[in-house]
Amino acid sequence: MGLVGGIEAGGSKFVCAVGTAPHDLRAQTELPTTSPDETIGRVVRFFQDQISHEPLAAIGIGSFGPLDAHPASRHFGYITSTPKAGWQNVDLAGPIRRTLQLPVAFDTDVNAAALGEHMWGAAQGLDTFVYVTVGTGIGGGGMVEGKLIHGLLHPEMGHMRIAHDRQTDPFPGVCPFHGDCWEGLATGPAIEARWKSKGQHLPRDHGAWQLEAHYLALGVTNLVCVLSPQRIILGGGVMRQESLLFLVRRKTQELLSGYIQAPEIVERIEQYIVPPMLGENAGVLGAIALASRMAKT
Ligand code: ZN
Repeated sequence: MGLVGGIEAGGSKFVCAVGTAPHDLRAQTELPTTSPDETIGRVVRFFQDQISHEPLAAIGIGSFGPLDAHPASRHFGYITSTPKAGWQNVDLAGPIRRTLQLPVAFDTDVNAAALGEHMWGAAQGLDTFVYVTVGTGIGGGGMVEGKLIHGLLHPEMGHMRIAHDRQTDPFPGVCPFHGDCWEGLATGPAIEARWKSKGQHLPRDHGAWQLEAHYLALGVTNLVCVLSPQRIILGGGVMRQESLLFLVRRKTQELLSGYIQAPEIVERIEQYIVPPMLGENAGVLGAIALASRMAKT
């Protein structure tokens, strides 16, 4: 497989790397996300320096959004209506493609990470699966029957509406658009705002984790019912709480109430709702996966 470049474009940092696979990342750098011009300029200089040593076949970008990932669209490669100051309607892929004279693959950070897990990680051999990250936001991507999901724009799984019992949890939620959508109730910032303590400081027997698992399981249950995924990968900083994955599995089984009679859910849920396998480098490896796929076509 040829050498390619990957860019994990995040709201606080950009991670750039060149390589071919998880065991073959040959150079990597992290840049703070400042203004679009400055950030894109630094990204381009990193890759120009790499290309001066060895040519690249393509660049992949997995980006925060919302964004336009439709190749036929006039604004393909743009970050669109993001709340991040200064980054609304910014052409991210265009200047990189034009300056480096390379094909550029562009998708959401979560679709990219999903593709990486499909190539090298927890979704190998599957054609329909979901990747969800629970951190400062909730993002979800994945594949249906072998294709990364785009449809109208791209999935915004974090903003699905879930049941919210205000008697037991009067917290209004933190999403600036919806208040108590999935992201509004279950991200790291929601945990901190509700309990006045960061999640990592809450003991494992704190009631926060039962409630968090309940909300995550509600979203997971919806995804199971809507997309019929063969596996759900749950990652992100909030999932580092060691008992949370176990609780989410059990509560998902309870919420589905035996209705979906698949052994994957009824008998082997520990292989059905799983952590990602690509770890710290999942984001930039996803971008490398996007580029590798483009270089092959
Ligand atoms: Zn929302």
